[in-house]
Amino acid sequence: DVKTVQVALGERSYEIKVGPKLIANAGQYLKPLLRRARVVIVTDENVAALHLPALEKSLDEAGIHHDAIGMPPGEGTKCFAELQRLSEWLLETGVERGDLVIALGGGVIGDLTGFAASIVRRGVDFAQIPTTLLSQVDSSVGGKTGINTPQGKNLVGAFYQPRIVLADTSALETLPKRELLAGYAEVVKYGLINDRTFFDWLEVNLDRIVSGDVAARTYAIVKSCESKAAIVAADERESNVRALLNLGHTFGHALEAATGFSNRFVHGEGVAVGMALAFDLSVRLGLCPGQDAVRVRRHLERAGLPCRLADVPGELPNAKGLIELMGQDKKVVDGKLTFILARGIGEAFITRNVDAAALRALLEERE
Ligand code: NAD
Ligand code: ZN
Repeated sequence: DVKTVQVALGERSYEIKVGPKLIANAGQYLKPLLRRARVVIVTDENVAALHLPALEKSLDEAGIHHDAIGMPPGEGTKCFAELQRLSEWLLETGVERGDLVIALGGGVIGDLTGFAASIVRRGVDFAQIPTTLLSQVDSSVGGKTGINTPQGKNLVGAFYQPRIVLADTSALETLPKRELLAGYAEVVKYGLINDRTFFDWLEVNLDRIVSGDVAARTYAIVKSCESKAAIVAADERESNVRALLNLGHTFGHALEAATGFSNRFVHGEGVAVGMALAFDLSVRLGLCPGQDAVRVRRHLERAGLPCRLADVPGELPNAKGLIELMGQDKKVVDGKLTFILARGIGEAFITRNVDAAALRALLEERE
């Protein structure tokens, strides 16, 4: 059965629906949002082959006219050239203000489509139908949209909220295991930030989630979306608490950069190692009990996620080099790194004062 999470943002509030077969029933959820019975769908070619026919069938049944475009899969699609191509295509379809643009796919499609929707005709409505676990628990929630440039990831974009999010657990059935686990790292993140009870639950239910139990997956996605929605509602533009969502990300970003942002080491894997490092650093600084860091690492390991610097493929730069890479993250303010550390599982906090020697010592440890 289908669960609902509210994202409370005043007049831009919207619902996230979570459960099975939402794509197959999308027409019924989307119809009430439409001013006229037509939508445009943006997807990638992988997702088009797997899930577009079910969406189109559902729209047909609801009497909704649809056009669709399939973008090339992969991070490279979040670029100016594809943004231009997509924006012009949207205009060619005759999309008007008040029409709905649907992003059907992972975070790449959601980020690109949301940004295009924010600028085409100075803003058309959009809906997210996230099809990866990562996009269901993270990128489709909170309204950050954008593209990459040669200067870095996600440096051009807009805050632009969708009208609705349909997180269809059935879509996850076709997702490769490695992509599923990358998204799972972000699920674990919510437990570590501020919900120890959720982390306890994940420890018990990990196998159900990984093996595809729909009720367990629905619960994990709902808890994650609730957690992110609450943080975003408190701080939509990341002036303070929203930074908690970057737990593990400053380390992770450096590791992704060190591996060339390639498929050898994906974002969620960087986040997994990064979260383990954030807990280690918290222990080194005398802030967090050692057994909590052990529990975090054990859980990530049991999930099949990397959790040590030694798990990162290839030759890594030394501590100094890694710290330099961390400094290239866009979360740097006045040249100072922001760290998300923890007093324990579920007790993350933001700090800009981290002892440089402790950080170096942590990053020098490689076994
Ligand atoms: P993705 O969109 O590239 O999807 C990963 C791969 O899975 C792609 O090859 C895709 O074609 C394929 N795929 C998608 N759904 C599938 C399905 N159901 N079955 C089989 N294959 C499927 O990557 P992602 O991990 O979903 O998202 C990563 C992106 O999200 C990054 O660009 C990142 O910057 C962004 N992101 C944004 C936010 C935000 O707040 N906006 C937050 C986190 C991440
Ligand atoms: Zn992330």
